Amino acid sequence: MEKVLNYIGGELRPARGGQWLDKPEPATARTYAQVPDSDASDVQDAVEAAKRAFPAWSATPAAERSRMVRRLAEAIRQRLDAFARAESIDSGKPLSVASTVDIPRSILNFEFFADAVTQFSSEAHATDGTALNYTLRSPLGVVGCISPWNLPLYLLTWKLAPALAIGNCVVAKPSEVTPMTAYLLSQVAREVGLPPGVLNVVHGLGPKVGAAMSEHPDIAAISFTGSTRVGAEIARVTAPLFKKVSLEMGGKNPNVIFEDCDFEEAVATTVRSSFSNQGQICLCGPRIFVQRPLYARFKEALVARTRALKVGDPLEAGTDQGALVSRQHFDKVMGYIELAKQEGGRVLTGGQRASLSGRCAEGWFVEPTLIEGLGAECRTNQEEIFGPVATLIPFDGEDEVLAWANSTKYGLAASVWTKDVTRAHRLASRLHSGIVWVNCWMLRDLRTPFGGVKDSGVGREGGWEALRFFTEPKNVCIKL
Ligand code: NAD
Repeated sequence: MEKVLNYIGGELRPARGGQWLDKPEPATARTYAQVPDSDASDVQDAVEAAKRAFPAWSATPAAERSRMVRRLAEAIRQRLDAFARAESIDSGKPLSVASTVDIPRSILNFEFFADAVTQFSSEAHATDGTALNYTLRSPLGVVGCISPWNLPLYLLTWKLAPALAIGNCVVAKPSEVTPMTAYLLSQVAREVGLPPGVLNVVHGLGPKVGAAMSEHPDIAAISFTGSTRVGAEIARVTAPLFKKVSLEMGGKNPNVIFEDCDFEEAVATTVRSSFSNQGQICLCGPRIFVQRPLYARFKEALVARTRALKVGDPLEAGTDQGALVSRQHFDKVMGYIELAKQEGGRVLTGGQRASLSGRCAEGWFVEPTLIEGLGAECRTNQEEIFGPVATLIPFDGEDEVLAWANSTKYGLAASVWTKDVTRAHRLASRLHSGIVWVNCWMLRDLRTPFGGVKDSGVGREGGWEALRFFTEPKNVCIKL
């Protein structure tokens, strides 16, 4: 059985305590690997290694750090197939998605920040001819990056790339649910010659490894992506330590479709925004609001397209929907389908465990599910399900749909479908979320600030925002 190892001070090694966690394959429910069950002592080793590496790494010229970060990108590209296969087996997502979306985008993260760091600049302010202020930005030191299971390598590299490029040393904690691509990345980091201790990866459980990172006095910042519950815990622990934190958390995103939309485009994209990665993307739009004159036609087309999605072995070509990531998550999603029925929802399609044969007979597959007949205020439409479950809700007017769209505690992303430009701008400004897509979904430009409002997050990632987050600004004021 494959054993994942920690990566500390340039060495691959098991947890100090010698304990392991079983790692099942979601498509088969069989254990196929073991992961170090690390604890605070492993975090301590990683912090010490990072502290030792920091003086030299932070003093390395930006162009050289950029070259090193780019080498990571190149090394992943050379092994794209191995990374994609590992991610598919680890997470249950279709191999086709891992190899065309997740891994290529992870490579782009490194490439983007390798470029960005060579262009980064800080501000200067001339004060009415009496003084000149400029801002020095230094790397923070040792920083912690904690990532979730849904886009394992993509979301990890989204943090590592800016943190490393700007000169910090990192202690990273990937999700224990999907550790494999972070392990491959550790191997790649060794091979490309990243100096020991610049990147450290500690595997294990959140309450042990993640908590030890949040509490550690020598970790200057925590960049976290995951659930709102854990984000709140990290905020509570780090606040008295005055750590810098960036929290990217849950979502329950609205997808607002007006009758004047481009019908074909809206239907096709709504299938993607509801069910990509089995609905396990924080940016998915599981609340589908459709203007009443279009509702019946839209529903018919959406149900037909959803029924056509092929649930299958993630490793087989032609599979649209793979397995949910874990037994626990499968149970949670099935529980929400039951709740939706109890709340009066009508299942239009799906609603069951998807039964597969052969090696996937025991896997955690759920049919893509559409539900109607529920009000915007019910639990099904307020709580994050994070699975292949979306609800359809008809609406009449703009004010009504805005109130419903804004009614959850979350505010990560929203989509609006209309050909009326004025309305699109008006809604974009009135929707309470960090990202608004108009006539599209998940179109990303890495320079733009990324993140949510309300319980979806504080802080922004992406572009300059990320480079700024991982630095400490100091203002120097010179009297003229
Ligand atoms: P999670 O919060 O359970 O875990 C995320 C990470 O935090 C894991 O590495 C976990 O081990 C660690 N962790 C757990 N307890 C901890 C603790 N006490 N202290 C420190 N770290 C701890 O989230 P998940 O289930 O892995 O991921 C799904 C969630 O992530 C969903 O809510 C989803 O919306 C969210 N998400 C948000 C974004 C975004 O950009 N806003 C992106 C992807 C996923």
